[in-house]
Amino acid sequence: ISRHPLLFPTQHQHGWSSHDVGSKALILSSKDQSLGMGTYSIGVYGFKGTTKYQVSVTVQDNSDRKVGQQAMSSSSSMEMDTVECRNCKHYIPTRTIALHEVYCSRHNIICQEAGCGVILRIEEAKNHIHCGKCGGAFQQGEIEKHMKVFHEPLHCPCGIVLEKEQMVQHQSSDCPLRLITCRFCGDMVQAGTSTADVRDRFRGL
Ligand SMILES: [Zn+2]
Ligand SMILES: [Zn+2]
Ligand SMILES: [Zn+2]
Ligand SMILES: [Zn+2]
Ligand SMILES: [Zn+2]
Repeated sequence: ISRHPLLFPTQHQHGWSSHDVGSKALILSSKDQSLGMGTYSIGVYGFKGTTKYQVSVTVQDNSDRKVGQQAMSSSSSMEMDTVECRNCKHYIPTRTIALHEVYCSRHNIICQEAGCGVILRIEEAKNHIHCGKCGGAFQQGEIEKHMKVFHEPLHCPCGIVLEKEQMVQHQSSDCPLRLITCRFCGDMVQAGTSTADVRDRFRGL
């Protein structure tokens, strides 16, 4: 997705993007200063083969949802007489902890990867893997796409070689070849190293 009405979002030039497998909701919050009224473009790029996709856009007033979340978190902090399961680290009522731990250790394991700690059913565990480069957690079937999209080196026309996330950042704010709106005449010009485009300098603006 990109905000600019003149530039269609590409894989590396965009404001927001998602590379998840399956459905994904991208939420643009009104609290974000860079958002507002305007035209947004949505680009959909395939990874491999062909697939069907559906794009839907909804405007949501989320003021009531926040009230609901607050109410939930305040009631769940009031659990009493519980003890931590040594396997899944969940707090379990003391009278059922023995039963729970037997069942839990037979069916669940915790991912040992630093910072993960996700509880997995034993049959799901071999499907849960971490990227060796960024540590992100993925399903077995997602890792090929993740490695290709996020960790394959990309070449910018300006000569620099970066991974995807740095490339998006580079092309939106650092690349001398990126197009920006000239602050004097309003045309799209290459950023270069100066803020004024050449024609404006000739006109003496
Ligand atoms: Zn447990
Ligand atoms: Zn994990
Ligand atoms: Zn990764
Ligand atoms: Zn560049
Ligand atoms: Zn200009």
